[in-house]
Amino acid sequence: MGLFLLVPKPIKCVNVLSLLIDPDDIYSSEQKPGSSDALDFRHHNYKEMRKLMKSVTDECPDITHVYTIGKSYTGLKLYVMVISDNPSKHELGEPEFRYVAGMHGNEALGRELVLNLMQYLCREYKKGNQRVVKLVTETRIHLLPSMNPDGYEAAYEKGSELAGWAEGRYSFEGIDLNHNFPDLNNIMWDWNHQHVFPSQVSPETRAVISWMQDIPFVLSANLHGGELVVTYPFDCTRDWAPQEDTPTADNAFFRWLATVYASTNLVMANPDRRICHYEDFQKHNNIINGGAWHTVPGMNDFSYLHTNCFEVTVELSCDKFPHASELPVEWENNKESLLVYMEQIHRGIKGVIRDKLTKQGITDAVVKVEDHDHDIRSAADGDYWRLLNPGDYKVVVWAEGYFPSMRRCNVGMEPRATMCDFTLTKTNISPHLALKCHFLKSHLKSYLFINNFENKLKIISLANINVTSKC
Ligand SMILES: [Zn+2]
Repeated sequence: MGLFLLVPKPIKCVNVLSLLIDPDDIYSSEQKPGSSDALDFRHHNYKEMRKLMKSVTDECPDITHVYTIGKSYTGLKLYVMVISDNPSKHELGEPEFRYVAGMHGNEALGRELVLNLMQYLCREYKKGNQRVVKLVTETRIHLLPSMNPDGYEAAYEKGSELAGWAEGRYSFEGIDLNHNFPDLNNIMWDWNHQHVFPSQVSPETRAVISWMQDIPFVLSANLHGGELVVTYPFDCTRDWAPQEDTPTADNAFFRWLATVYASTNLVMANPDRRICHYEDFQKHNNIINGGAWHTVPGMNDFSYLHTNCFEVTVELSCDKFPHASELPVEWENNKESLLVYMEQIHRGIKGVIRDKLTKQGITDAVVKVEDHDHDIRSAADGDYWRLLNPGDYKVVVWAEGYFPSMRRCNVGMEPRATMCDFTLTKTNISPHLALKCHFLKSHLKSYLFINNFENKLKIISLANINVTSKC
């Protein structure tokens, strides 16, 4: 029926076709394929970025909220846009996600992709795109397009052609922000390690650290450029070996996360693509353990060891500062990856840990999963999220002043977190002793689990806590 309505004006149809296929322009349209999304594809300096973020909040006031987490050395604000159905506050049980771009100021593509993503989520939500509506309703998404605005402004002034390989990479003070986080990986292995913070911590790093502490982030990606690969922690090798595979306790899930991004990125997934420089990441399916590539005490490791948040680094393109004309195709290359990666936040188990009597949520309760030597802690209202691959897990939860509680939680294949709530009963026994008693009485025979418990005891003894009294 719709076709017949178009037919009465054949001349117009011919004109439309000639616009679509211009025989003189076949090659240029092949060389510069665009995007079907009408987004603001250009490089945005600080003022233009602010203006664009304002226009998105004007367009979608109900699902967006802009805030700042601090300032750069020269006083430029580090703006974050949060996108969610209830953007201004945390909702019980709703996980918090973040994308961080522009840590290295000259790696400009991530910044533009994050700005594209803001516009895209706003418009598709309004259009009723079911996938986007679900994501925005069930997730609180924080987008920091520019962690190092001083560096970016320096690179932007030179532009795509003239910006050198390192121009604008560093903060105004000359600090590489991805080498500016405390090296917790080595501290974890060396208890006598005194060097907790790097000698000079930039205001940008401090702002991001306090942001990570304020919000119970579950999943994140740090967007870089200059290569085509997704790296997962640990990024820092033990004892600073220049190159060594350094897996976390969640290696399988991190490999899944990295694969999700890399296998849906249209350039990485293309088997005929050229390598960027001299390393062929394609033979590793475009993912690699950070330490196995080059050691860096970066944000990924800090996020994993100091907070509950799992983070990978995405190296988005060979060219750090692509020409503006390439931005539409770069958006298309990364659109699915950016969306499907965010959706991974809804895997594993989640729930609320409550006091059995008062039903109040318990803050800072420890969630321990069998065979995973990496604990997660509950947020302010007692809610928690524990990313896990499909499987059947024994989960123990304990908190200061409560008896531990154990239950089995099953994670299925579908991207939907399994609800696993806990209620804890108060005790007068010290929490560490209560934990020890629980293990002694329980039927958990797994060697690894016992081993983890021994690690716990080591920590307790280091903290001079007496656990010799009887259960
Ligand atoms: Zn970088």
